[in-house]
Amino acid sequence: MSKAIAGPEIERMIQLLSRLPGLGPRSARKAALSLLKRREDLLMPLADALSAAVDRITHCSECGNVDTVSPCSLCRDGRRDRSVVVVVEEVGDLWALERAAAINGVYHVLGGHLSPLDGVGPDNLNIPRLLERASSGEVKEVILALNATVEGQSTMHYIKERLAPTNVAVSEIQKGVPIGGELDYLDDGTLAAAIKSRRRI
Ligand SMILES: [Zn+2]
Repeated sequence: MSKAIAGPEIERMIQLLSRLPGLGPRSARKAALSLLKRREDLLMPLADALSAAVDRITHCSECGNVDTVSPCSLCRDGRRDRSVVVVVEEVGDLWALERAAAINGVYHVLGGHLSPLDGVGPDNLNIPRLLERASSGEVKEVILALNATVEGQSTMHYIKERLAPTNVAVSEIQKGVPIGGELDYLDDGTLAAAIKSRRRI
């Protein structure tokens, strides 16, 4: 434990910030310092935004996305093609696909991937709800946009088999996605191309 350089409130802030991905103790101290310097225009609005998030953030009952309303804003958007459902592992993947404007469908967030060694089975993921949606008659195509990792691929095969008895077409995104690659790290052009050149499986 390094020596405290500030009062307990500030130390606590630094300690919490350092738990964020991409922020080690050093950048956490930098972030804390700029928040403290910019009390009015940064620290206070951020504190308000975080507090509102704590109160209002929920999981979409339809697709598993994170939002302040359920069904989420994407599921409520009438301009989307509800017959196409893009399945992703995490909300970050959904954000990446939206940022790339890769497709105008709706999503389904699994909340991870199958990982028997870590005790993650199908019922620990948002798979039962996906099967319900696929059987509803509204869905024509399910696009599996899972990470090109071993776990992502075994999850994909499992879902493909479970979807087989339904009438929906099942596709996977094209493997311009590098092996071991996670969607969130791809540039927008590669992501959009991976969705466009999807192939039926
Ligand atoms: Zn939703």
